[in-house]
Amino acid sequence: MATNKQPGKWRKRTLAVRGGTLRTPFQETSEALFMTSGYAYEAAEEAEARFKGEIGGFQYSRFGNPTVAMFEERMALLEGAPVARATATGMAAVSAVFLSSLKTGDHVVAAKAMFGSCLHVVEQILPRFGINYTLVDGTDPAAWEAAMRPETRLLFMETPSNPTLSLVDIAAVAKIAHNGGARLAVDNAFASPALQRPMEFGADIVIHSSTKYIDGQGRALGGVILCHEDFLNDHLQVFLRNTGPSISPFNAWLHLKSLETLDLRMKQHCENALAVAEFLGRQKKVTRVLYPFLPDHPQHNLAKAQMDGGGGVVTFEIAGGKAAVFRLANALKLIDISNNLGDSKSLLTHPETTTHAKLSPEARAELGITAGTMRISVGLEDADDLCEDLEQALKVA
Ligand SMILES: *Cc1c(COP(=O)(O)O)cnc(C)c1O
Repeated sequence: MATNKQPGKWRKRTLAVRGGTLRTPFQETSEALFMTSGYAYEAAEEAEARFKGEIGGFQYSRFGNPTVAMFEERMALLEGAPVARATATGMAAVSAVFLSSLKTGDHVVAAKAMFGSCLHVVEQILPRFGINYTLVDGTDPAAWEAAMRPETRLLFMETPSNPTLSLVDIAAVAKIAHNGGARLAVDNAFASPALQRPMEFGADIVIHSSTKYIDGQGRALGGVILCHEDFLNDHLQVFLRNTGPSISPFNAWLHLKSLETLDLRMKQHCENALAVAEFLGRQKKVTRVLYPFLPDHPQHNLAKAQMDGGGGVVTFEIAGGKAAVFRLANALKLIDISNNLGDSKSLLTHPETTTHAKLSPEARAELGITAGTMRISVGLEDADDLCEDLEQALKVA
């Protein structure tokens, strides 16, 4: 198979379209989908040599697959990461990072504002193996510093956070991690590599749910881990090969092809989200609007420093609690009620009763989630249609 000629010289937009391509002798222009579990060998000697690692080549799709390899290489080029490994879901990626590298007695520091399943892994699964954790207010670098212990091995954050879009200063926390001999892992699902590349700010590991903006069309689950060679060789590779959270080549192919339009889509998501955020800011019934690229966002300067755009998610609040929110949600004619995000279709979530229902009322209050808080994953429809839909629904609320 032929590989790319000079990807080192290409800019991000070119890498998104051509990076990582492996062409078969058929010279297909669109990347091939290799739906195969196994691979055959010309001779028994070749099988022996591949298993010994003396020659390259694929052995079994739990270990590697050409379509998956193309997706991994393109992701690594876009994030500016030395290596990437794709997984079946974003959660498979998150749990593999934790479970491959930590052992009994180790300690983790993580931001409180975390995706629900990530919080479950940290709070419920890690302690069963004697791995301790401290949760901090991620927006405060001093809190990260204060939580560090001699046995701290991994710092974990998500920025922007779900659903209140608070930011963590990646460079500041990376410094704290490295001073303490720990690694920093960043969940980059909300921004995607088109808007934020945490390794440029010192992160050691970047994790994606490619289910979200990378797929971008709500079709298939997937995840990606991006890291340095030492983390891959010392921890991740052997864990992934033997525990088997492999992505289907079909899903990897969808996400590989989606990367070709990621930059264009993210620009439009950002433009639409800003229009919706500004519209909501002008509505009397709306008591609060959160969007990183609105000048009144409390961390607007940090957003401008570490992100190339505000992203596709807007969070807002109305008075009247759950009853008013449900009236608004049920009155929507275009925007769907859904807990997913990163789709080309606009989706509205009420975190208190869905994604964050398992948290205690105190924990929700600490994160700034009230009964009136709603999150919109702003899609790629015409922004005027989205604002008109919200306008008529706000009348009913
Ligand atoms: C969705 C999401 C995940 C989990 O990804 P799955 O692909 O659903 O497993 C993790 N982190 C963040 C920030 C997410 O939005």
